Amino acid sequence: MSSIVYLNGEYVPRSEARISVMDRGFLFGDGIYEIIGVYNGRLFRSEQHLERLQRSLMAIKIEHQFRIEEYEQIIQELLEQNNITTENKYIYIQVTRGISTTRSHNFPKPSVKPSIFMMLDDLVRPSFAQLQKGFKAITREDSRWKDCFIKTISLLPNVLLSEEAIENDATETILIHNGYAIEGSNSNLFNVKNGVIITPPKSEHMLGGITRELIIELAQQNNLPIKENNITLNDLYSSDEIWVTSASRDIMPIVNLDDQIIANGQVGPMWQQMQTIFQGYKDAL
Ligand code: PMP
Repeated sequence: MSSIVYLNGEYVPRSEARISVMDRGFLFGDGIYEIIGVYNGRLFRSEQHLERLQRSLMAIKIEHQFRIEEYEQIIQELLEQNNITTENKYIYIQVTRGISTTRSHNFPKPSVKPSIFMMLDDLVRPSFAQLQKGFKAITREDSRWKDCFIKTISLLPNVLLSEEAIENDATETILIHNGYAIEGSNSNLFNVKNGVIITPPKSEHMLGGITRELIIELAQQNNLPIKENNITLNDLYSSDEIWVTSASRDIMPIVNLDDQIIANGQVGPMWQQMQTIFQGYKDAL
């Protein structure tokens, strides 16, 4: 565990970091977050993640606190204070609307300073053997709100949906909205059919993943056929391959969905290809 965290301008041991019970993050889940991978001690796609953080702040009307470079400076300081030089970690950043004196739904007036918290944690990756075997997922109706493009800390539906996967010996819950598979409870979704990689188009019903964007970019650069298209539940069951992607999981192949075997139940060749390209891209940074 990386023990020094950043909280409102100070670097303190995680066990000593304290925040008021009047913080709106605690009372209302009124805040946003971001997660950035750190590979071999280096930030991965931090600009894209920090731009999304700024967009989330804007969407919930929290005034920008720092410029992207300022967030990066704090993160660098955090890496140094925790002696991170070659490890794989992730950075968690949370910004809430701040601490008010009374509990009211309405924004504090005059406005208060947002609370900013950052910590490092271990990136737990599936082993090579687990990846080669593939993973199980389940599907559930999407019970979230309609502004899923905001990376809000109000994650109760995601938490409950994700837990259902665990209860069913699966690793992810794929969410169905109006008959279409949208994304996972904490990942984006791809499938492969007849040699074409498909991912649902971006909309307010999903989080535009940074990993998703990179996979689209890498597929295009490497002449792998890819398109954004709606995916029905039946499309998913009859897929040649299914993947879920995120900054903390990279690209996970799903070989079993709702206890149905996908294709031949083996990890597919397109995943192998994309995984090699993705790993090569990361190693080259
Ligand atoms: N969708 C949801 C709902 C998520 O929580 C995440 C992970 N934060 C993603 C997609 C993947 O986004 P990213 O690739 O930026 O980690």
